[in-house]
Amino acid sequence: MKQPIVTAESSRGEPIMIECAKRDDISPMCPHCSSQLRTVWFQQLAGVMGKRFVYFCGTCRKVLGISHRKGFWMG
Ligand SMILES: [Zn+2]
Repeated sequence: MKQPIVTAESSRGEPIMIECAKRDDISPMCPHCSSQLRTVWFQQLAGVMGKRFVYFCGTCRKVLGISHRKGFWMG
């Protein structure tokens, strides 16, 4: 199943096309403990400007990423 194509740049600054492909047959892998991420845990961060969430590995609990949504009006 093919998804819309996103644009990126190569190391020489030339635009290249990266195809985005949906894969449900494999699991993402944690970069810290190399276990398969079947469940990503998250916690909500307290803040004045909208909701933020921190996502972390369910096996080693290291942080995978933080959502940068600043508010409903900024998407
Ligand atoms: Zn991990």
